[in-house]
Amino acid sequence: MTAPHLSLAELKALVRTVPDFPKAGIQFRDITTLIGHHRGMAASVHHLATLAKAAGADKIAGMEARGFIFGAAVAVQLGIGFVPVRKPGKLPIKTIGIDYALEYGSDRLEMDPDAVEAGQKVVMVDDLIATGGTALASAELLRTAGAIVEQALFVIDLPDLGGAARLKGAGIAVNALMEFEGD
Ligand code: AMP
Repeated sequence: MTAPHLSLAELKALVRTVPDFPKAGIQFRDITTLIGHHRGMAASVHHLATLAKAAGADKIAGMEARGFIFGAAVAVQLGIGFVPVRKPGKLPIKTIGIDYALEYGSDRLEMDPDAVEAGQKVVMVDDLIATGGTALASAELLRTAGAIVEQALFVIDLPDLGGAARLKGAGIAVNALMEFEGD
């Protein structure tokens, strides 16, 4: 008999918190310890895949880099394709891209415009939502490519930073496996 999946509380206990990384005052929620635990990784993917299936996903999109880890595994579990939303300059083809503001400066995401078909339901997966800036930019990019984006899934939500509320305002429902207070 296969072992039962770990509970969400057990998964939360597998996330390592590193204070003052990458700068003073930030509590970095490190998933290295979660994905290094076989049953922790399997249960995280199981829970995310259940939510993605319920949302009617035709494809899963993951944001570079930690979104690739969970998103690709969810896509395999559901038997559907995976769309990488990439950092700039990585794809060898003509891409579509979006620039978005960070707390200090700006960043850019790119994707293959042919990675989704018009009208396909794409569910986004990432490790963590903080301000929601990355996820909002990804959704805009996927929508430009023709995708319907109505659901985003995360392992971790930092609700005090308001990301889930921002996504809701853009018509995107957010589910996360766990929450941490503060930033
Ligand atoms: P945001 O665009 O503000 O929602 O930030 C989300 C991205 O930044 C995610 O892809 C995370 O990997 C990373 N991130 C932001 N804050 C944290 C944190 N406290 N711990 C770990 N990763 C974080």
